[in-house]
Amino acid sequence: MAIEYPNTNLYIDGKWRPAVTGDTLDVINPATEEVIGQVARAQHADLDEALEAADKAFASWKKTTPLDRYRILRKAADLLRERASMIAEVMTTEQGKPLAEAKGETLMGADRIDWMAEEGRRAYGRVIPARSDGVYQFTVKEPVGPVAAFTPWNFPLNQILQKVPAAIAAGCSIIVKGPEEAPACCAELVKVFEDAGLPAGVLNLVFGIPAEISDYLIPHPIIKKVTFTGSTAVGKQLAAKAGEHMKLVTMELGGHSPAIVFADADVDTALNILSANKFRNAGQVCVSPTRFLVHESLYNQFVDGFTKISQNQVVGNGLDTSTTMGPLAHDRRVDAIESFVLDAVDKGAKVKTGGQRKGNKGYFYEPTVLTDVPLNSRIMNEEPFGPIAPITPFSNFDDVVQEANRLPYGLAAYAYTTSAKTAGAIGSALSSGMVSINHHGLAMPETPFGGIGDSGFGKEGGMEGIESYLHTKFITQADV
Ligand code: NAD
Repeated sequence: MAIEYPNTNLYIDGKWRPAVTGDTLDVINPATEEVIGQVARAQHADLDEALEAADKAFASWKKTTPLDRYRILRKAADLLRERASMIAEVMTTEQGKPLAEAKGETLMGADRIDWMAEEGRRAYGRVIPARSDGVYQFTVKEPVGPVAAFTPWNFPLNQILQKVPAAIAAGCSIIVKGPEEAPACCAELVKVFEDAGLPAGVLNLVFGIPAEISDYLIPHPIIKKVTFTGSTAVGKQLAAKAGEHMKLVTMELGGHSPAIVFADADVDTALNILSANKFRNAGQVCVSPTRFLVHESLYNQFVDGFTKISQNQVVGNGLDTSTTMGPLAHDRRVDAIESFVLDAVDKGAKVKTGGQRKGNKGYFYEPTVLTDVPLNSRIMNEEPFGPIAPITPFSNFDDVVQEANRLPYGLAAYAYTTSAKTAGAIGSALSSGMVSINHHGLAMPETPFGGIGDSGFGKEGGMEGIESYLHTKFITQADV
């Protein structure tokens, strides 16, 4: 390991410090299973300080001009770019993804900060023509207040950067509970904001036992908005708690994305793009293609092609530059993936390739292709979040739409066709927050990201991303 892996403290009111109790949690390298460091475990006393800091900072941050916020954010984006190689190495060491993916995530993160810096300057209200002479009525946008954000380990930087720049650009303060599995790259990210001159208390970073922290922060009167990225099951619990206390929420939850390959598709394009996105981050991506639905006329060709690409993946330590797929991020994922495959095989699925843990050290799992997977198998119903591709044939448009829309999720969907008519028809037929046709075009800083149904609600990114941190206040004023 080229870098010395750092331990991670809490960042509260502009200071880095351990938890008041001194408690820590271990951080494990998923490629080696070694304990590589510790992260501070916050308790209520720490959270009280973070709440007080966020409250105090909000009072002054909301009064800074959008131009001043923009300048700090733009500086943070530049610092993030400068430090991208170092941060990527930290991320790979604690999360497992290949170095090139970690660096790409970091650089894309800098673009997200830039985008929201600019959106903050365009948080326009409007003038509404009145019914009477001498009456002036207009709307203004105001920041919603201190935010509690809960972000996961799969894209440790990206998931924070889908929230923090929007909140800060809008004039909110924010407490982030980052991922305990990958805390050090999150701390490096926060240092970027600190070094760019963000005032103390505007951004606070804590770690701990997730339920202990959300149970305390969500009901707290200082917190005005809750934003969570993670599983549907946890999202439902947190949204319910937020609802009890009438807090605003954004929920970016799980998905089970259909990837439809029509008879007239460019098969090589579909194979290359879908496989790259299947094995990216070892499949631990909420918009990963997870139900491959292929027209029967291309089915064998597609299965053979996907199997070959899967077998060509170089699975290994993400720090090794030849690696194309790293380990799963923690041991819970290995158990989950093993049980998905066992269940499918038990119900009659065939394993074309993979289907096993790889080696006996590190959380590696082989890229896996399954065929003949019954619809009642767990993998066709629950989000897989791993490197498994179940491939199913279909014969006509209506049937494939019915299968694509069968589940309560609705995050992302993909389709491949050379017919403009089919492309138009499938784009409107899919029940999904996002549809990407003939390429993979999701999660850009300038485009809205988010799902419907069990995949959550609210958008991050795009011009929509800042809206969820703003209230619309209506003011009407008459001449006296
Ligand atoms: P999990 O359900 O235990 O946790 C998912 C995330 O939620 C983690 O980051 C965790 O720290 C957090 N979390 C859990 N309980 C919480 C609570 N009470 N309060 C606040 N945060 C809480 O599962 P896991 O094994 O860590 O991850 C696997 C599942 O999580 C996957 O199947 C996938 O559906 C989902 N996931 C989704 C995304 C996403 O981008 N939407 C990211 C990571 C994980």
